[in-house]
Amino acid sequence: MIRYILFDLDETLYPATSGLMPAIGERMRTFLEQRYNLDPEVAHELQKRYWLQYGTTLRGLMLEREIDPQEYLDYVHNVEVAQFIQPDERLHKILATIPYEKVIMTNADAPHAERVLARLGVADEFTRIFDIVFMEFECKPARGAYERVLAALNARGDECILIEDSVRNLPSARELGIQTILLLPNGMDPQVQPTRRFLDPAAQDKPAECPPDANLCIQEIYQVAEAIQTLAPR
Ligand SMILES: [Mg+2]
Repeated sequence: MIRYILFDLDETLYPATSGLMPAIGERMRTFLEQRYNLDPEVAHELQKRYWLQYGTTLRGLMLEREIDPQEYLDYVHNVEVAQFIQPDERLHKILATIPYEKVIMTNADAPHAERVLARLGVADEFTRIFDIVFMEFECKPARGAYERVLAALNARGDECILIEDSVRNLPSARELGIQTILLLPNGMDPQVQPTRRFLDPAAQDKPAECPPDANLCIQEIYQVAEAIQTLAPR
């Protein structure tokens, strides 16, 4: 029986075309440039390698270079969320129909998650936020990240459904018995410049078609309640 729905935050609860993650990605690159005195291209390559190899840029910085994680998190998330995302009453109504406890599981930090949830107007739909600090920086897709969340919820994998936009976060969740719903990219927004997309490593991780690691795929987050109903009929 399903008890919990684990929601990814960034580019899952709001559209990938918002430009928020590219803006954060730019700040990650700027941080690397300034801290280690790197050229922009070198900083971007490093950012990409860390993201691919360790799950987040921060994890790479922590393992390969000494860094204060909180200083980095504060710096990269210092963006005006309201410039990128809008209150979403439709999403709030749909979340309210889901008859299970909903929690956030994010590789960002809790203050960023709180700002995003508050801006969307959906904070009251989520009972807990499991962030990168909770995961002790062992972030998705590490299996340990999911194990930590399951332990905190006192839940088995098969009592949870994960909602994600990043395909690489699915296999380890599936290994633990968690069912997965993947949000596919809903077309490219011509307003978002390709160069800005390139600055966001996560943008390289969005398949056009439903992969085998997803139990179900949806085109937009507004289909999430229906998808959960399909996987866990009541
Ligand atoms: Mg995401």
